Amino acid sequence: MAVGGCFCGKVRIEYSGQPITSALCHCFDCRKLTGTLYTYNFVFKMADLKITGSPKEVAKTADSGNQIKNYFCSDCGTPLYGLKMESTGTPGETVILRAGILDDIAVLNEHKPKVEIYTDGRVNWISPAEGADQLIGMPPLP
Ligand SMILES: [Zn+2]
Ligand SMILES: [Zn+2]
Repeated sequence: MAVGGCFCGKVRIEYSGQPITSALCHCFDCRKLTGTLYTYNFVFKMADLKITGSPKEVAKTADSGNQIKNYFCSDCGTPLYGLKMESTGTPGETVILRAGILDDIAVLNEHKPKVEIYTDGRVNWISPAEGADQLIGMPPLP
């Protein structure tokens, strides 16, 4: 289990178990979502996350064509997680948690990236993560 939350502390998130996978993403949307050059994400099933507080929801069709809802703290704006929507418009089970919100750096040290996606969007002075599969674009979400 690990805990995390936003910059101001109004939203707290904890999870049980282990991430299904861990991914660095260099897509255009991730830059805009976070104001950083890439995101680091842990993928979970929604049932394994516990969220307290009221994140703000912003929906968008991602570069992959998936309908994604992204969640932010409505007070401080920290990007928290994304939720893949089914084609029917109902929320899917897959949650993409922004790993940087986790409180304990030991958890991040334990989970190196398994995959790096949208590598075609990586700035040219950042090196590939050691041991991570390198993919142009995005594999299907679990
Ligand atoms: Zn906040
Ligand atoms: Zn991305």
